[in-house]
Amino acid sequence: MFEAKRIKNLPPYLFAEIDKKIAEKKSQGIDVISLGIGDPDQPTPKHIVDTLCQQAKNKSNHRYPSYYGMPKLRKAITDYYQKRFGIELDPDSQALPLIGSKEGLAHILVALLDPGDIVLVPDPGYPVYGTGTLLAGGEAYFMPLLEENNFLPKFQDLNPEKVSKAKAMFLSYPNNPTSAVANKEFFSKAVDFARNNNIVILHDNPYSEITYDGFKAPSFLEVDGAIDIGIEFNSLSKTYNMTGWRIGYAVGNNFIIDALSRVKTNIDSGIFNAIQYAGIEALEGDQESVDKMRQIYKKRRDFVIDSLKQIGIELEPPKATIYIWVPVPDGYTSTSFATKILDEAGVVVSPGNAYGPTGEGYIRITLTVEDDRLKEAMDRIKEIF
Ligand SMILES: *Cc1c(COP(=O)(O)O)cnc(C)c1O
Repeated sequence: MFEAKRIKNLPPYLFAEIDKKIAEKKSQGIDVISLGIGDPDQPTPKHIVDTLCQQAKNKSNHRYPSYYGMPKLRKAITDYYQKRFGIELDPDSQALPLIGSKEGLAHILVALLDPGDIVLVPDPGYPVYGTGTLLAGGEAYFMPLLEENNFLPKFQDLNPEKVSKAKAMFLSYPNNPTSAVANKEFFSKAVDFARNNNIVILHDNPYSEITYDGFKAPSFLEVDGAIDIGIEFNSLSKTYNMTGWRIGYAVGNNFIIDALSRVKTNIDSGIFNAIQYAGIEALEGDQESVDKMRQIYKKRRDFVIDSLKQIGIELEPPKATIYIWVPVPDGYTSTSFATKILDEAGVVVSPGNAYGPTGEGYIRITLTVEDDRLKEAMDRIKEIF
């Protein structure tokens, strides 16, 4: 058989590979604990599940959903942005529901790129930014995120020739995998840079609600001029423990939203209506579960930071996300450190270089396993060092 040149160089999806490794170890009878994948272990809040159950029984929901998402869902999204960030958006032209934000992050590139166009991609970063670029026929130019710059890209250090050919730039704060955060001042700089270079900003903000110690993550759209040059992706996946449901959205510039919706309406048919109703309930209903979630992750964060300290790795506790980005000790690479932990402790962590070359020298630990399993995992890691 044959395959397109476009996908020849496409790596297998990182977490699909990690899943394979786990299965292999489990088949050898090893009790593997995965701190590899950022997938909330807590259940979706009951009032959201109840809404789904009710709506699933309504036969009018069994037919094709409306292509652009139900007007009520788009309104719930823009109301949420008004309440949470103080941003006014038009539900009809500036909000688009997605079948999980991942598909939107990939499809936006089909909407924006011509062959050979460059996309500025954070390195390390969520793998979809780079692979989505490849799939759309574009070229990814990596922007290194360095610890000395608080894991923010330095726009003035980017290659001017690449910048001149760039059509879009991904940013994502609070950040996966580094757990770094950004303030509005940084987003302002990004907007200036993008405007001066005629680049679209694609801001990925799925961790906006997973923050600690009083930090409140801004939306990139809060900054003057942002709506003229960009969109923001958000998701119900992490905020409401709904990764399996596949519901997210994009908000922002109406021209870009329209381009994305033209791609999507031609190749998918929207989110199951019952899930759209559940999404409305999530966004409009009681937000107490979000507070509880923050407390659960904060406790785990502090526990992991403390355990790492006991083996000589001292870190500032991150202000956001479900990740701890850990520099590996001297003498190790990302891969050799992750492999040692898997082989000797039966614990999966992801090697930092899997998120891009600049991730070399780090591993990522996720906080999405039950407290007792997390304790067991960290105890085992302590034992081998
Ligand atoms: C989890 C995550 C998403 C959200 O994915 P969904 O497709 O909405 O489940 C997007 N971006 C990043 C960086 C993530 O970590």
